[in-house]
This record gives sequence, structure tokens and C-alpha cells, in this order.
Amino acid sequence: MTTADTAATHAERTAKDFTAHYGADPDGLWAAPGRVNLIGEHTDYNDGFVLPVALPHAAVAAVRRRDDGVLRLHSAQGDGAVVALDVAGLTPGGVQGWAAYPAGVVWALREAGHPVGGADVHIDSDVPTGAGLSSSASLECAVAVAYNDLWQLGLGAAQLAVLAQRAENAFVGVPCGVMDQMASTCCAAGGALFLDTRDLSQRQVPLDLAGAGLRLLVLDTRVKHDLADGAYAQRRAGCERAAELLGVRALRDVPYAELQSALDRLEQLGADGELRALVRHVVTEDARVEQVIGLLEAGDLRAVGPVLTAGHASLRDDFRVSCAETDLAVAAAVEAGALGARMTGGGFGGSVVALVPHDGVEPVAAAVADAFAAAGYGAPRAFTAVPGDGARRLA
Ligand code: ADP
Ligand code: MG
Repeated sequence: MTTADTAATHAERTAKDFTAHYGADPDGLWAAPGRVNLIGEHTDYNDGFVLPVALPHAAVAAVRRRDDGVLRLHSAQGDGAVVALDVAGLTPGGVQGWAAYPAGVVWALREAGHPVGGADVHIDSDVPTGAGLSSSASLECAVAVAYNDLWQLGLGAAQLAVLAQRAENAFVGVPCGVMDQMASTCCAAGGALFLDTRDLSQRQVPLDLAGAGLRLLVLDTRVKHDLADGAYAQRRAGCERAAELLGVRALRDVPYAELQSALDRLEQLGADGELRALVRHVVTEDARVEQVIGLLEAGDLRAVGPVLTAGHASLRDDFRVSCAETDLAVAAAVEAGALGARMTGGGFGGSVVALVPHDGVEPVAAAVADAFAAAGYGAPRAFTAVPGDGARRLA
């Protein structure tokens, strides 16, 4: 089992390393968490519902404002080099590698008319990268909240999330939905964030895992298959095509009660089985989010488990974005006593989230590790997630 650093150690190290790199103290420290999405996968670009939880793992940014228009970026998880950029010259596609994420945030702020300039930035994140736990959004959001404070922009959490998403979409060139950034800025400790991705309306849903004798176990398969990017674009295009055929703005507009008639209509219109299955996933997944919220609000946390497992089956069979490793992790977790489990994140690898009885953490993690060893896969990484706070200033 791995654990996140204590917040104090992480913050202290980030400040110390900033000073070592830039020869001066930072103006402040900001943190933005990664997230695990409890349920609501591939719904955020269909104007649908999601239910993420902030992880204790976060990107911490130590930042010192500069007034000469130079943006210097360094990451403890990068290649060691300091990247120096001229903020006035930032253009989409013009920055390669990890630095495009923080630089994109500065670009997006300026594009939106905010008069921000350069800074020295040092990042230190304990969010696993590329594990479906949203290290990219936490990196963006840490920089966004720092800039919001240092330039006294007065932007709210949702506004910062939308700007961070714009950075990732338009500057880095990744066509992600808005869930990750909203989770990173808007989540609160002790709860999950129910987000309607159409209008960004949100509600905190209590998630008292300890009170219910449960734990949220995250199992990072540590694999990411190459087809992820192409498959994401293909699924997304398929959803848009289906919405167009059905004459709705987005698949979110197909009510669960009308799913069968929508599928029949698509068949009459010549849509193939694969396209119809995409619709079935999105519509049933939105319904599962609402079902889970109902169960959480009724305090029936154990009953959430089977809904998670049903969500996984839908991602595996209808949306077809799981893979052998996540399927095995889900099956082994449930077999070893998890109440339910599902892949979380975009798919083709990444992580699985499992709801387990409090004394089931070690046996379930061990069973998944054994199943991986038996299948010849590398060892997965396991940790428990206690719902944490969204992006904030630390010092
Ligand atoms: P995820 O967001 O699920 O972790 P992504 O592929 O969206 O996966 O984002 C991972 C990318 O984000 C990394 O390849 C890297 O470019 C960037 N990144 C995230 N965290 C850091 C960090 N601490 N330092 C440098 N780059 C980072
Ligand atoms: Mg990401």
C-alpha cells in the first residue's frame, strides 16, 4: 500500500526546492488535488453527470510573481530543466512537453482578458501521472489558483476550472471534458461532487465512508495502452453522431425511460450496434450517477457497490474502453470481498476504484496483486482515498 505524503512535508519540500532553484522565497504555496471519479464515466462530454472525489494526493505549486513577462517553470517530476517562456509569446501548440499545461493556464487567463504576467513556478505533485487520477488537471489548477491570488483576479472555483480546461483543450491539445478541473477546484473534504456538466451546477454529496465502515480503495494498474487517445476521440465522435441522429443537443437529453425507443430509432436510421451501445452506456451511466447519489443521501453506502460494478460492465461491454488489466482488477477485487468496483478515468488502463469493507482493504489489494502476478502483469499500486479538499492556498 502506498500513501500520500503528509501535506506539511509536501508543502515544506516544495517551498525549499523553489528557493534552491530560483534563489528566493516563493510568494506562496497552492495545492490542487487529483481525483477519483466514483461514477459517471465518459458522460462529461455528453453534458451528463459525474461524481468525483478529491484525492489526498495533490500538485503543490510554489509561485513567485515576476513583473518582466517571463514565465519560468520547473517540476520535481520533470526532466530537471527549468523552462523559460515569454508570456506575451505564448501560442497554442508552441510549448512542448509537460510545461504546456501550466503555460496553457497563463495563456488561457490572458486570452480571457486577465492582465496576468510572468512568474517563477516550482511544481511538486504526488498525483500518479497517467493513472486516470487527473494529474494534468491538478497541475493546471494549482497554477490557476496561484495566479488568481497573486493577481487578485477574484475568479471563482468553477471559472478557474473552465479556464484550466481551456488550457488543456486549446493550448496543450487534449480534448478532455470539464470534470477533472471542476473536481480539482470544487471538491470538498468528506463528500463527493455531484456535477451537472451542462450548466456546471453542483452539489456536495456526503460520503461518510468511515461512518459506514467502508473504504475507497484505488488500484492503479500502472498500464496505459496506446489506443487511449484515438479511442477517446472515436467514442466522443460516436456520441456526437448519435445525438445528431436523435435530434438532441447531447446524449444527456435522452431520458432513461426513453432509452429503448431511442435505440430502436437509431436502428431504423441505420446506426450500427456499436453506436447504439455507446448511447446505452451514456444514458444508463447518467442514471447510475443519480442512483448512487440517492443511495448516498439515504445513507445506504453498501448498496453503492453493485452500481459501480454495473458501471464497469457498461464501460467494458457497451463503451468498450476497459482492458484486460482493469477487467481483471475489478473481477479480483469483487471476488475478494469488495462490494463493487469499476475502472475510473478514460480507460485502456489507469485505475480501478473499489468500495470495500474497512477490514477488506489489505485482502482485496493482495488478491488483485496476486491476480496480476498470476497473469504476468506488473504489480499494481494500491492506496485508500479519503475525500479531500479542492484547490486552495497552503501558505
Ligand atoms: P492524468 O491526468 O490522468 O494523470 P494525462 O495524460 O491527462 O494523465 O496527464 C499526464 C501528463 O500531465 C504528464 O504526461 C505530464 O505531461 C503532465 N504532468 C502531470 N503532473 C505533472 C508533474 N508533477 N510534473 C510535470 N508534468 C506533469
Ligand atoms: Mg489528465
